[in-house]
Amino acid sequence: MPAPRVHSASLEPDILRIGRTIFGRAERAAPSIFSQEYWQTFGTNAIADDESLKLRLFRFVEVLPILQSNRDLAHHLHAYLCDGRMTGDNFYARLFTGLAQVAHSGALAANLIGPLARWVAGTGAKQFIAGATPAEAIRYVKQLRQRGNTFTLDVLGETILADRVAREHQQLYIDLIESIADDAAGWQDLPLIDSAPFGGLPKVNISIKLSAIVTKFDPIDPEGVSEAVLERVRPVLRAARRAGVFVNVDMEHYAVKDLTLDIFKRVLTEPEFRDWPNVGTVIQAYMPESERDMSELIDWARRRACPITVRLVKGAYWDSETANAIRNGWPIPLFTEKWQSDAHYERVGAMLLENADAIRPAFASHNVRSIAAMLAREQALGLPPRTLELQMLTGMGEPLRRALTSMQQRVRVYAPFGDMMTGMAYLIRRLIENTANESFLRQSYEASAASDKLLRNPNDPRSHLPADLPQPYLADPPGENPMAPFQSEPIIDLSRTDEQNAMQAALERIRAQFDKDHRPLLASKINIDADQWRTSHHPADPSETVGRYAACKVDDVDATIAAARNGIADWAAQPADARADLLENAADRMREARYDLAAWLVFEIGKNWREALAEVTEAIDIVRFHAYEMHRLTERNRRRDWPGESNEYLYAPRGVVSVIGPFCFPLSLVTGMVSAALVTGNTCIVKPARQASICSLQCFALFHEAGIDRSVLQVLTGSGDAVGAALAGHGDVDMVAYTGSTPIGRAIAQIAHGQVNRRNQFKHVMASMGAKNAVIVDDDADLDDAVTAVLDSAFSYSGQKCTSCSRVIVLDAVYDAFIIKITEAAGAITPGSPEKPGTGVGPVIDEPAVQRYRHWIELARKQGRLVLPGGVPDNSAGGYFVKPAIVADVAPDAEIAQTELMLPILCVHKARDFDDALKIANAGPYAMVGGVFSRMPPHIDAAKAQLDVGLLYVNRKITLSRVDRQPFGGHGQSGIGPKLGGPDYLQEFCTSRVISENTLRHGFDAADAKQEEKLNA
Ligand SMILES: Cc1cc2nc3c(=O)[nH]c(=O)nc-3n(C[C@H](O)[C@H](O)[C@H](O)COP(=O)(O)OP(=O)(O)OC[C@H]3O[C@@H](n4cnc5c(N)ncnc54)[C@H](O)[C@@H]3O)c2cc1C
Repeated sequence: MPAPRVHSASLEPDILRIGRTIFGRAERAAPSIFSQEYWQTFGTNAIADDESLKLRLFRFVEVLPILQSNRDLAHHLHAYLCDGRMTGDNFYARLFTGLAQVAHSGALAANLIGPLARWVAGTGAKQFIAGATPAEAIRYVKQLRQRGNTFTLDVLGETILADRVAREHQQLYIDLIESIADDAAGWQDLPLIDSAPFGGLPKVNISIKLSAIVTKFDPIDPEGVSEAVLERVRPVLRAARRAGVFVNVDMEHYAVKDLTLDIFKRVLTEPEFRDWPNVGTVIQAYMPESERDMSELIDWARRRACPITVRLVKGAYWDSETANAIRNGWPIPLFTEKWQSDAHYERVGAMLLENADAIRPAFASHNVRSIAAMLAREQALGLPPRTLELQMLTGMGEPLRRALTSMQQRVRVYAPFGDMMTGMAYLIRRLIENTANESFLRQSYEASAASDKLLRNPNDPRSHLPADLPQPYLADPPGENPMAPFQSEPIIDLSRTDEQNAMQAALERIRAQFDKDHRPLLASKINIDADQWRTSHHPADPSETVGRYAACKVDDVDATIAAARNGIADWAAQPADARADLLENAADRMREARYDLAAWLVFEIGKNWREALAEVTEAIDIVRFHAYEMHRLTERNRRRDWPGESNEYLYAPRGVVSVIGPFCFPLSLVTGMVSAALVTGNTCIVKPARQASICSLQCFALFHEAGIDRSVLQVLTGSGDAVGAALAGHGDVDMVAYTGSTPIGRAIAQIAHGQVNRRNQFKHVMASMGAKNAVIVDDDADLDDAVTAVLDSAFSYSGQKCTSCSRVIVLDAVYDAFIIKITEAAGAITPGSPEKPGTGVGPVIDEPAVQRYRHWIELARKQGRLVLPGGVPDNSAGGYFVKPAIVADVAPDAEIAQTELMLPILCVHKARDFDDALKIANAGPYAMVGGVFSRMPPHIDAAKAQLDVGLLYVNRKITLSRVDRQPFGGHGQSGIGPKLGGPDYLQEFCTSRVISENTLRHGFDAADAKQEEKLNA
């Protein structure tokens, strides 16, 4: 039964009293000036005062574990601190800058300062980390017990890229449980920490993260992931139960919160575990949803009739969650003002204490107000002292820990262990928390902070500070863009059950529409003979007919173009705003149909859920962006009027535009070309890629439904050789917009440029073509990040995107390590049906692609070392499945390194140094997309200046560009023309005209009269 509630306001005097006691004791427990703890706290605060210095030192600490030599260390220290851009100028900024300069001055100095820097950083890390090995961790927790505190041990983990690592991690938990339990059998019983009013407590307590025991902790596939996690977590729980060890399941990012809670409840409802009380999980009060989660957990625990523990925290991921939500256009799932999290902590904490008979309450915080509020409520509810447990992190708020221990509280210390390299993410989180302006600990270090101010009720308006949310910085050249910034379409959040259900329902809806004929979308009806129908198969199961499209004849092209010519006058005469509005309507329709469009992509071209929905989002975005850009272009219809002279600069449509699209992005890239053509006043005929014909027809039917006339936009399906070539070469076409392979693009350019059309114009060609995109991995890169990004860039959609990474250039020092990691991770990829939510990599597009794959794998054997052999999986059951392959030691000029494959085959090159890497990356005819992973600012600057690509990504994957943010397109043999999604794209579809009028008439200036006319109008 829940305890009766106690009104919060009545608790304030007790909270103040308890809080003052804690502060008083903490002051007495402060470290002496001769202790290391004193100087560590002092140093942290001094650094925290200077934001610019703090960020630079954090970057240095982050890269430090991977730096092999003192020379490297000195270079990095110098690059971070002596770039002339540091804003602070206090004593510490000058001290560190001076040290960096000395370290960089020569080998001797580097050899002196290098070890010193490592010692300082290592000592700093030890403050937060309980040791590198289980043995060190056990020694550490025994010392904790001697100081009157108990513990929970956490194993610091690297990013789990391979199943072997996940299994090792699981085993590590089991070994830890068994070894420490053995040791603990001889530990003396300490009543303060080994018992609570409700009974004895296990002496050993470990905290685990579910993401550490499986490779893909991805909420997109709750069922599949739950199965995998359950299989891994049961042996851990079994071992713990056997050994009498407590297990806490930690809480990670918001996206996996529901999944974590669900798995936790599922496993503990199983007969084997349902009467086991020594388990717990975490609720994060910084999200409004946590009140509901807490209430559901209480109900569940009551039904289970066996208590669990809940650790209430505010939450460790505030910065990354808010940035992520803002970047993706999602509502922020967390409170945005600090006082709200504090107040919510007290509210959810009250729920926890009121239900202490069903849930054992644990409060993890270093905030004296939050702790005092919980202790006051424990008393007010009449609960026995030490019903609640207090938890703190190793190395954080040590005087507070000592104070609470001296008050006979049960204090558990969260003690993570592992080496510096794997613990880096944790260490950085702690450093940020210790130095954040919002942090209670940091505020309490301020000499001036009075304890009563810090103990203020968070609901008191005097505790409120304005939200300090990260904001996008969007700057145009002065006067360039008078409009509000473009608003991107939010990415669909597939961690949400409603979105998953919507996608599943769409797949079922579209499957029910299989096996139908899809006519071309033309202004006038054409005859289609029976033998003209072509089947579009599901690449994962070619026995399934997605539908049929017509292979139109070359004879149909004349009539189609004639209709487009007829449509020009009316369409071009419409005000630009009206055309833009029609595009907005089309984007609205696409938005309404977004799941259906994505389902067509899944079935017809084999994209997985995430890729398919991302493409639809991108397509909606680009259509809206072009409507937006048209308004901007209209603004640029400039006047330059001088006395007696009026000058206008106007944009006019080119005429009829043929759009020829690729199969890899049949919606986003094709709607990009089409919407640009239409909004600028051209009429347009689309020839989609054969393999994606139905996707395109579905999409452009929505444009017609939105009110765009069929004479303005037509879709002619058929083969590239016949219809495509006829559309490109036709004498009544004014422009060809093409996306596809370089040989065809080159052929189109040759035909078109040599041809004057019937309106006496040289045909204009814009082409986005082939690529052989490279990513450079520097010797100081975070290898886990680089491997994750390269894996995704090279193998998502089976390497068939024009932005896919097909070469990775790795510096000598990390070459072998990189190959081991990526080979192991890629080897675990099993291509599967894109219809299933959990599928990462689906099939390739068609049988010829499988044949090409076989051919290139054979060549790969000769042109490099096939470290991951790939192959066609045995269970492909007729689907066009091929496995990722990796070829190492490839010469930069090898045929496989120079030819665009559009397949999941990745070449790896070894580079002597960064300059060599740039040379290798630039060798070749293409210049589309490139990437660099480095933490050395001069190297990043060199890549920016010298890597010859249209779009350079630094320290991130090279696919998934967003409209307006990462305009996409290349040069060299990768492209002719401007970038899609950028500020210059629409002009390409226009000719510009200048009109200059002499307004002087026999002694008077007629321009004024013109102004009057304008005003009257
Ligand atoms: C023993 C222990 C175990 C932990 N386990 C987990 C865990 O499993 N999962 C997890 O996520 N965290 C965990 N944490 C980390 C914990 O979430 C942070 O240490 C905690 O949020 C810091 O809160 P505080 O009360 O100590 O400090 P305070 O300084 O009072 O609060 C800082 C917190 O306020 C919140 N905040 C900051 N700025 C804002 C803002 N503008 N708007 C709204 N809220 C804001 C953030 O959550 C931030 O961490 C654990 C902490 C401890 C001590």
